[in-house]
Amino acid sequence: MTSLMSRRHLVLAATGIAAAAAAPRIVFAQGTMAPAGPFKLDPLGYPTNALEPHIDARTMEIHHDRHHQAYVNNLNNFAKDNPQIAAKPIPEVLASLNDVPEAIRTGVRNNMGGHANHTMFWQIMGPNGGKAEGDVIAAIDRDLGGLEKMQAAFNAAGGRVFGSGWVFVTVSKEGKLVIETRPNQDNPIMDGKRALIGNDVWEHAYYLNYQNRRADYLKAWWNAVNWKAVGERYAAAKAGTLGV
Ligand code: MN
Repeated sequence: MTSLMSRRHLVLAATGIAAAAAAPRIVFAQGTMAPAGPFKLDPLGYPTNALEPHIDARTMEIHHDRHHQAYVNNLNNFAKDNPQIAAKPIPEVLASLNDVPEAIRTGVRNNMGGHANHTMFWQIMGPNGGKAEGDVIAAIDRDLGGLEKMQAAFNAAGGRVFGSGWVFVTVSKEGKLVIETRPNQDNPIMDGKRALIGNDVWEHAYYLNYQNRRADYLKAWWNAVNWKAVGERYAAAKAGTLGV
């Protein structure tokens, strides 16, 4: 009996050691924690370290796999009792938030806005982002005084966001560009516009690498912009086919 108990203790101890060694860090496998639901988080279109040194891999992992996933999970939780929020395309819901039941309206505004903002954000970034060219640079020249002036004004506006929010270049149906900011997770679709590009100035977007130096993050971020994707968004906005 004694030897059996001892052996059992040994086995348990060994199991404990093996478990501890096997799980030194929590792996956030995409989607595994999410309730089944109509809203989905798309995988990043590039590795998490693809934007280094401008945005570090750890920030990308936490930002995409946890922050964005949380917005998606919250939406799926709302959709359990309010399936109508998933019955229309996201831009239609965001453009008519007053149609959302009051009890969940703020939650849908924040989480669907966050889902839309981040979907756009991942899409317009990437490695080897190329140059602004074609129709989109013509519009930047025409409406915003050229690329350098636009970037300086965009960075300044992003620096002035007090608390959490976004800085955007919005695009109208006619293709006109304007630099604007929004608080929290508000998205220009809520005002009948579209985001051509947007940068996240919530601290979670940059704090690990830049701490309080938001201006440095805003400046460096342009190195992570994928201008081909931006050009495609501009064409889609003018064609009326741009989603979020
Ligand atoms: Mn964010």
